[in-house]
Amino acid sequence: MLKVETKKKDIRALTRDQLRDFFVENGDKSFRGNQVYEWLWQKAAHSFDVMTNLSKETRDMLEANFVINHIKVDVMQRSSDGTIKNAVRLHDDLVVESVLIPTKTRTTACVSSQVGCSLDCRFCATSRLKRMRNLNPDEIYDQVVAIDNESRLYFDRPLSNIVFMGMGEPLMNYKNVLKAIDKITSPEGLGMSPKRIIVSTSGVPKIIKKMADEEVKFKLAVSLHSAIDEIRTSIMPFNATFSLADLREALEYWYSKTKSRITYEYVVWKDINDSQKDVNALVDFCRFAPSKVNLIEYNPIDDGEFQQASDKAIDMYVKTLERNGIVVTVRRSRGKDIDAACGQLANKA
Ligand code: SAH
Repeated sequence: MLKVETKKKDIRALTRDQLRDFFVENGDKSFRGNQVYEWLWQKAAHSFDVMTNLSKETRDMLEANFVINHIKVDVMQRSSDGTIKNAVRLHDDLVVESVLIPTKTRTTACVSSQVGCSLDCRFCATSRLKRMRNLNPDEIYDQVVAIDNESRLYFDRPLSNIVFMGMGEPLMNYKNVLKAIDKITSPEGLGMSPKRIIVSTSGVPKIIKKMADEEVKFKLAVSLHSAIDEIRTSIMPFNATFSLADLREALEYWYSKTKSRITYEYVVWKDINDSQKDVNALVDFCRFAPSKVNLIEYNPIDDGEFQQASDKAIDMYVKTLERNGIVVTVRRSRGKDIDAACGQLANKA
């Protein structure tokens, strides 16, 4: 479908002060800017028409100058286990996916940060999509709002947690992820606690240090999968550039600043990282800070090259980690029947 390029500016790219200035420059009161800002973020308005405390004239004036580039949930799929996957269409017709994961007590939103991904993890379906572009802060925010609405509608409760574990590498779109989290956590937006947000990364050392310097309040998870460079590079080729030594140094710095426990995501695969040597390397890697390892189930993405390790191997991991004082959980994936589980997001719906 051919779309006519619009010259109008996306109003959500403006700060509150810029909005206030806009009204003053147009002969109106600055507080109008506050009213519009509230509509755009707190009330997540997707059209000027709904801004009922503004006159028709003001709404027309906004319409003439700006657009609201909002997302649209194109397809919503529900899994037999309650998980919901949204295929989300962006204003330029690109599509990303986000997932609602319900448990008895929580609803977690798993959101995307990029269209496609620039990393090349060989076990992940998203890596087969080219990275088309970064998501804007409002596009990340909208995914959260959509899932919050679905949570209220289907589970009768608001969204409780957010994980940046959808498509993309959040630390390669750090500026926009940070802006989105600012809005999500601010009383001017959704007012959620940053402690309920986890940003998951394959490990971009420079940005991890930057986050530490900025004293961010959300949590960090690292997709490690191997603590041996040679193996990690073979399954996550970008490890050749961002080596384990650099990652570890950045994480040590993170811990020295935040004193917050580090969580690792880790899949154990048959004949790849299922030996005692692999788990020993992991224990060594974790030593510098209190750590938690989430052993996540592998979700096959087709060719059979990667296979989940045996229960015996998982058991060995659990025992060795626990013996060394590392917290370990074994996590089953949700939403597999609708390709909504970790590493399965690839716009197939
Ligand atoms: N790029 C970020 C965000 C993606 S999170 C990151 O790497 O952390 C997606 C999580 O699912 C990561 O921990 C990733 O390693 C994991 N994953 C990817 N493919 C998977 C698969 N097929 N099965 C299970 N987990 C997978």
